[in-house]
Amino acid sequence: MLPDLLDSLKAVVGPRGFLDDPADTAPYVTEARGRFVGRCRAVIRPASTAEVAEVVRLCAEAGQAIVPQGGNTSLVGGSIPFESGTEIVLNLGRMNRVRDLDALNHTITVEAGCVLQTVQQAAQDADRLLPLSYGAEGSCQIGGCLATNAGGTMTLRYGNTRDLVLGVEVVLPDGRVWDGLRRLRKNNTGYDLKHLFIGAEGTLGIITAAVLKLVPRPRQVETAFVAVPDPTAAIALLADLREATGDTLCAFELIPRRGLDFARRHVTGVVDPLADVHAWYVLVEAGAGTGEGALRTLFEDGLARGLESELVLDAVIAENSKQRQAFWLIREALVEAQKYEGGSLKNDVSVPVSRVADFITEATRAVEALIPGIRAVPFGHVGDGNIHFNLNQPEGADTAAFMARWDEIQTLVNDIVGRLDGSISAEHGIGRIKRQELARVKSPVELDLMRAVKAALDPKGIMNPNKLLP
Ligand code: FAD
Ligand code: ZN
Repeated sequence: MLPDLLDSLKAVVGPRGFLDDPADTAPYVTEARGRFVGRCRAVIRPASTAEVAEVVRLCAEAGQAIVPQGGNTSLVGGSIPFESGTEIVLNLGRMNRVRDLDALNHTITVEAGCVLQTVQQAAQDADRLLPLSYGAEGSCQIGGCLATNAGGTMTLRYGNTRDLVLGVEVVLPDGRVWDGLRRLRKNNTGYDLKHLFIGAEGTLGIITAAVLKLVPRPRQVETAFVAVPDPTAAIALLADLREATGDTLCAFELIPRRGLDFARRHVTGVVDPLADVHAWYVLVEAGAGTGEGALRTLFEDGLARGLESELVLDAVIAENSKQRQAFWLIREALVEAQKYEGGSLKNDVSVPVSRVADFITEATRAVEALIPGIRAVPFGHVGDGNIHFNLNQPEGADTAAFMARWDEIQTLVNDIVGRLDGSISAEHGIGRIKRQELARVKSPVELDLMRAVKAALDPKGIMNPNKLLP
């Protein structure tokens, strides 16, 4: 029966959309960091929604499991098939058309396989901004952004992907197409079904297109690199600066001194913009549509008030785009630099913004008690409560032995996250690697609801099985 199915699938998508030679499928079954290397029957690359629908219908009939895949950047194993080799990968990369751009409605309608950066560019060409930006934007795809509900450096101002989606088109697990490509900002006609598919990590259906919100392009951007006494002061400063700048902050990134030191040591071009050494910094950015110089004045006044109230120890405002880029290089270099400091463990968590400092204090104390000499590097988008609580091994320690304690550390950190009303995954999702943790932290009621939704939409369980749901 199975060779028949593969023949039928090949007939639907044509030779260009069908790969089954292991040499060709290798990039689609391997995760970038090499943590997961799976196998599959075939990689199917449809070119239209109709082809996706036909592929899924055939798979549903045959009970064939499908792994939806975008740019393969999510790094939690969700887009990679299991080692069994019994699944097919359905990659959306060929569905990469911008279907519509409605400048007056401030919307863009794009297919799932559009690379995020391409959509940003299309918006910019129409003098609009797609306010979604992060490190993987050159390769992640819109379908993947939606399926993981990604949030980037502008979440503070514009929300995460979920807040930017007005409509979706989805191929359901039985092959039917739901055309939910509404371009409406107001639509109170019952369950808002699009939200089921956003953040579902491909377990409920295949997103084939989406309507995204655009906003006017900021004409003025102000960026500052600011030394603060500690995370408590940083969070107080965040509230003050939001108020002082008329709520125009779009980024507020925490950077610890240790992270800056690692970045200076390992990444070319990173320099400390301030004369003295401080324990903590924030990279702050504000953007406004109008008012020559007005934002600059508000921004300067806000920082000056911070100096008076001692929430700010020192600050430098970028005078040009080169300086702005130099500030952002520090933030972007943090992750890369950690690789050169031996074993490094990542926790991508969030807590209410008001509890960021409590989390950093408690979690740092806990991991230092567990492993003396461990080097915590908590950084990230604290403007929206997201902390990348990354941990480097003690200097000179055995890397394998340190990495082997990953589960123990994760449990310790996640228990603190739970006590502070936070989330164990703020960005990358659950995929394969956090399923057991999800089972531990979600209430039985919440897990029941999630399973009920899965059973209702995908009764045969063919859509990305054994991912996300414990
Ligand atoms: P993939 O990795 O291919 O897939 C992710 C999941 O979605 C899988 O479960 C897959 O099955 C499912 N899926 C993919 N496409 C579809 C579809 N069309 N329909 C249904 N399901 C689908 N995330 C953040 O939130 N914020 C960040 O700042 C951030 N920064 C990053 C920086 C770097 C350098 C990297 C490598 C990753 C970063 N991420 C970040 C991770 C982020 O989740 C992904 O980059 C992106 O959202 C996933 O898109 P993708 O196309 O690569 O999806
Ligand atoms: Zn991040």
